[in-house]
Amino acid sequence: MRIAGRVDVDDLPRICPLLSRRTNPRFGEAQTRVVQVGSVRFGGERPVVIAGPCAVESREQTLEVAREVKGSGADMLRGGAYKPRTSPHDFQGLGLEGLKILREASRETGLPVVTEVMDPRLVEQVAEYADMFQIGSRNMQNYPLLVEVGRARKPVLLKRGMAAGLCEWLGAAEYIANEGNFDIVLCERGIKAFSNGEYSRYSLDLNVIPAVKAETFLPVIADPSHATGVAGMVEGASRAALEFGAQGLIIEVASDRLDASKPKCDAAQAISPRTLRRIVHYIDARQEALAERVLAA
Ligand code: PEP
Ligand code: MN
Repeated sequence: MRIAGRVDVDDLPRICPLLSRRTNPRFGEAQTRVVQVGSVRFGGERPVVIAGPCAVESREQTLEVAREVKGSGADMLRGGAYKPRTSPHDFQGLGLEGLKILREASRETGLPVVTEVMDPRLVEQVAEYADMFQIGSRNMQNYPLLVEVGRARKPVLLKRGMAAGLCEWLGAAEYIANEGNFDIVLCERGIKAFSNGEYSRYSLDLNVIPAVKAETFLPVIADPSHATGVAGMVEGASRAALEFGAQGLIIEVASDRLDASKPKCDAAQAISPRTLRRIVHYIDARQEALAERVLAA
């Protein structure tokens, strides 16, 4: 029996000849193509930490969190100006005003900023304010959007669709590369599986990280915040993802000041600035231990 539309990883050289390791032997078996965003290097020697609020809610909230992110030693700022929400009645983001706030936070802290773009008509606008586009899980297969960010010549953080397989994910990345933009960072952000909201929001698919690295030379990072949906799980999930070879993390953070208002979206998964600092310290210590191991060998 043959199944129409069936794919497996052996089809990857056909689905994504521009990005498959098998069709690009110059990258060897382990080498990653470094994606540079300002001075931040994805796929370089050290895992990259992106952190910030789920959504840009106000200038005060964003600047406060951005300062904490900078103080923690993280490398980049995140924050949504356009939010993909389950209900159209929920907070949709501040739009252009949010982009301006992000730019200001980036200028003040020196951190490059990544933010989601959902609409192909807004790619130019978002490009004016952001250092990196984020394509969200819900839009991973929005092909006109992928083509548009591919043409915009700016690095792209491509999140995995919550129900997408490896071939579909890499096929989506190929749409961006096909426009001449190879500055793509993949992000595993949790898939729909058993947990389904009972004990976590999604399931962090750790196994896909080494699989991605085996099939493509693009860097891959993990999002422990959306993958778990539980603040108390974010630190453990971050460590686990690094052990599985993740080349970075994207983490949601909120202020823990008593008088600060609760985030309007994804409040349950936001970690405190203190926990973020601990995660960055963990990476510092891990890097030192790795360097010592290399010296001893
Ligand atoms: C986000 O990063 O805020 C977000 C909406 O993520 P995802 O697309 O992974 O759900
Ligand atoms: Mn979020």
